[in-house]
Order: sequence, then structure tokens, then C-alpha cells
Amino acid sequence: ARRAPAGPPPEPLDVLHTVFGYDAFRGDQAEIIDTVVQGGDALVLMPTGGGKSLCYQVPALVRPGVGVVVSPLIALMQDQVDALSALGARAGFLNSTQDAAQRREVEDAFLAGELDLLYLAPERLKVPSTLDLLDRGEISLFAIDEAHCVAQWGHDFRPDYLQLSILHERWPSVPRIALTATATRATHAEIAQRLQLEDARHFVASFDRPNIQYRIVSKASPQQQLLELLRTEHAGDAGIVYCLSRASVEKTADFLVKQGIPALPYHAGLDARVRARNQSRFLREDGLVMVATIAFGMGIDKPDVRFVAHLDLPKSVEGYYQETGRAGRDGLPATAWLAYGLQDVVQQRRMIDTSEGDAAHRRRLGQHLDAMLALCETVECRRVQLLAYFGQASEPCGNCDTCLAPPEGWDGTRAAQMLLSTVLRLDRERRQRFGAGHVIDILLGKQTPRMAQHGHDQLSVFGIGTELSEAEWRGVVRQLLAQGLLGVTSDGYGTLVLTEASADVLSGQREVRLRRETARAKAPRQSSRR
Ligand code: ADP
Ligand code: ZN
Repeated sequence: ARRAPAGPPPEPLDVLHTVFGYDAFRGDQAEIIDTVVQGGDALVLMPTGGGKSLCYQVPALVRPGVGVVVSPLIALMQDQVDALSALGARAGFLNSTQDAAQRREVEDAFLAGELDLLYLAPERLKVPSTLDLLDRGEISLFAIDEAHCVAQWGHDFRPDYLQLSILHERWPSVPRIALTATATRATHAEIAQRLQLEDARHFVASFDRPNIQYRIVSKASPQQQLLELLRTEHAGDAGIVYCLSRASVEKTADFLVKQGIPALPYHAGLDARVRARNQSRFLREDGLVMVATIAFGMGIDKPDVRFVAHLDLPKSVEGYYQETGRAGRDGLPATAWLAYGLQDVVQQRRMIDTSEGDAAHRRRLGQHLDAMLALCETVECRRVQLLAYFGQASEPCGNCDTCLAPPEGWDGTRAAQMLLSTVLRLDRERRQRFGAGHVIDILLGKQTPRMAQHGHDQLSVFGIGTELSEAEWRGVVRQLLAQGLLGVTSDGYGTLVLTEASADVLSGQREVRLRRETARAKAPRQSSRR
């Protein structure tokens, strides 16, 4: 790093003051930085907005040599380098977006010792010339950002990250710091193992984001529900709306614009220039709503995102946590709102069944989904459940929907038995495919053309379920699917089938607790924040 050749190395606190202009370190920052400055390895688990960047930037400015930062966020490297340059630090990057001349310039600066930080895309480390280059310069530290990308267990695995064990093998005396904002126990252990950081100091910050209010509602008419949320609680606010597909991103963005809400689409199918333009408008202008697939957001540092809304179910709790974590980075109240319904469960189970990869991979995806569903269906505090998923114990928070309006649980055993025995009857008609809609029609005793065609109005279960409404039955189906007491085929019809566990319910050996549907109940008012 840049310092007078003869003078003593600068103190971390001085660097914090003079370069970054901050008064004090936060949380574990000081200790993490000390560890790395003294040449030790560190594994840092800290939520989004916790201040991970300083944990490697300060040591890179204190220690002699160049800090090499491995990051998958190619699109953000230019921004990061610009931000550091504005502070007077010397930074450069090497990735696939550059031509040979641009790369050459950065390489020369690196070799001449004219850089404090060098950002590298992970795939660069597969190129022998990059490794040779690093051999010829002086390296102060390796920082491995978004370290969860090395974990196959996690939700964001990137094969190029497996390369990173080479860092330790080839440069054993250079300290390494790995950082991530998502880490269940399983991911944490896998990062440590794959990056050979078992002997590193591990710093695990609290994952609680107290200013985020978590709410999960059942999906009825998602666009209208979203509109209501934006109009009543978030008029004029910046926020992110996540949708599963590109098509629904486009549709939702159009819908919001027609309703007078300034919204922009973002997904991988858009032209790169349009994407970049929408992203930078979202970052720079006030009060824009970004409607996006999960392609959007990693590494985005916009402090005043007031809400993150999911119109479709995230595939994992880790993903949900990371996406909702983009709200309220400034510490002010923010909303994490998710609408999910029966169709989400059916669709995701089908996607898992038909996904590529081996049985172990599908099992892992299934476990991720199950944990996400458990969070959706819980009658306990959402935050308690969320933090427990990350191995952190906590008390009911008073700032989530279940704390603010405790849902009613009810004994759904009889309803479950009615539903399962209907599925059992239909299961005998092997050549036919019947999804949730038809099963519910049978329970409600609806005389539809399909009913007559198959003679289902003659079944003994026809019309036995009229004490519940259609919406309530959909809730029953969804919750049974979520609890694994009911299954769905991957044939594209969403045919309901029994599971092994269904038998225990049918035989009366197992009780079923369900959560009362609150679709029509009013969302809890957010405490005033202006
Ligand atoms: P992360 O990478 O963990 O999501 P960042 O490193 O982007 O978080 O930091 C989040 C924000 O907090 C940034 O705007 C950063 O400048 C600011 N920040 C980090 N550490 C401090 C500190 N010690 N004092 C003041 N602001 C800080
Ligand atoms: Zn709570």
C-alpha cells in the first residue's frame, strides 16, 4: 500500500479517519482488521450493510503490497474502483469486460506497486498468466467476497469459486479474509472447509435486522395486494419487487407504471445497456420501484430502499434473507413483504422434480424449499424462525406480522382427512389427472361439466367440505403440501398425490395443526416513521 518508504505503517484507525472519513469502527470491524493486519486469516459472517468492505480495504491500505479482492460482481467492479479512487486509494480490476490494452495497464500498475487494491473475477484465477502475474507482485492479502458462492449446499454456488483453494496452496503466507452475508451453519462449515479456513478466526455477527418488518401474506390477487401496500404504506418510496419470471417482471412493471407508480424492469433477458441504465437510475434517483428477478441486487448499496416485496416464493431462506436484507440499510424502518400461495408450492415442487442435477442436488433443493415453507406457515415470530435458521436464538420481536397480529391455529385433522381421502379416490383413476382446483370442487360439491363427465358427483366425498370456503380449502392444500402431508406430481398438471406421511393422517394417528387463513384480514399498520 501507499506509504512513505521509511515511515512506520499507518494505524487502522488513522486510515479509517483520513481515507474513509469515519469516526469509529463498528461491531467486530476493529478486531477483524487487526487479525488480518497481523497476518492472520479471518472468516467473516456479517449481514448486508454490516460493513464488510472496510474489513479488507483498511488492512490493504495498512499492509505493504496489493490487496487482491476476488469478487463475482463484475458489474460492480468499476463502481467500487471509482469509489475508492474518489477517496484517494489506488484500485484497479481485471475481468472479462476489458480489452487487452486495458488489462495490460492494470497489470503494469500492479507490478509497479502502484495499487492498493486489485479486484479480480474468480474465473481469472483459472488463467495461468494471472497466477504468474500475482507471483511477480507483492500481495498484502486475499479477500474473498461473497464467500458463500463456494458452498454447494448454499443457494448461489459458483463453480469458479472452487478454484480459490489455490490461493492458500500457492501463497501460504498471505493472509486471507473470506466474507459473506449469508451463512447457515451448513454453509458456514462448507466455506471453512473448502477454503481451508478451519484455523482462521471466525467472526459471526448478529443477523438480526431489527428495522425490517417481516410480513408474509397469502396470495389472492398479487398485483392488487402489492398496489395496496405501495399506496397505503410506501407512497413515493424506493423499493424492490421480486418476481420469479422475466414475463411477470415485465407485466408487473407495466402494471405499476399504469397505476402511476414509477417502476423499472430488470432481468437477464434485457439488453445489457438497458439493465445498466435501469440499475443506475434506481441507485441515483429517488422513489423508483425496481421490479426484478433475483438477477438484480447482489452488491447493490442503496441505503434508503424502504421495502422489498416478493410476488413469488423465494427458493430458500438464505435467498429470502439476502433479498429482504437490501431493505433499510440506513437503519430506518423498512418492510419485507411476501405474498405466496398454493400455486407457488406446486410450481416449485415441480421445478425441483424436473431440475437438472443428481438426486442429492434435488434433495437439497427440496430441503431449502421446506425451510422456506416452514417460515411462511409458522404461527410463531418470523424473526425468531429466521434467525434460528442461521443458528441464532432470539425472543419474539414485536415487529413482524405474527407478533403484531398473532395468527390463529386450528385443528385441521378432519379437513385434512377429507381432502386426503378425496385424493385417494381420484388416485384410483390412474389415467386421469386432477389438480387442486378439481379436488376442492368435489369437496364443495360444485356441479361443473368436468364433475358430471367423470361421475365425481357420485363420490361419497362429494360436497362433504362445505363448511370451509374455497380460499380456506386452498390454504389447507397449501399447508399440507408445505408439511409434506400431500404431494404433487411433476407431470405438468399439478396432480395431487398422497405421500408416505399421508397415511398417518388418514388413519387418525397424526393430528394436523393449521394456520387460519388471513388473506382477507387487514395487514398490520406499520408504525409511523416520518
Ligand atoms: P456490506 O458489504 O457488509 O453489505 P458495506 O461494506 O457496503 O456493507 O457497508 C455498508 C455501509 O456502511 C457503507 O455505506 C459503508 O460506507 C458504511 N460503513 C461501514 N463501516 C462503517 C463505519 N465504521 N462507520 C461508518 N460507516 C460505515
Ligand atoms: Zn416477530
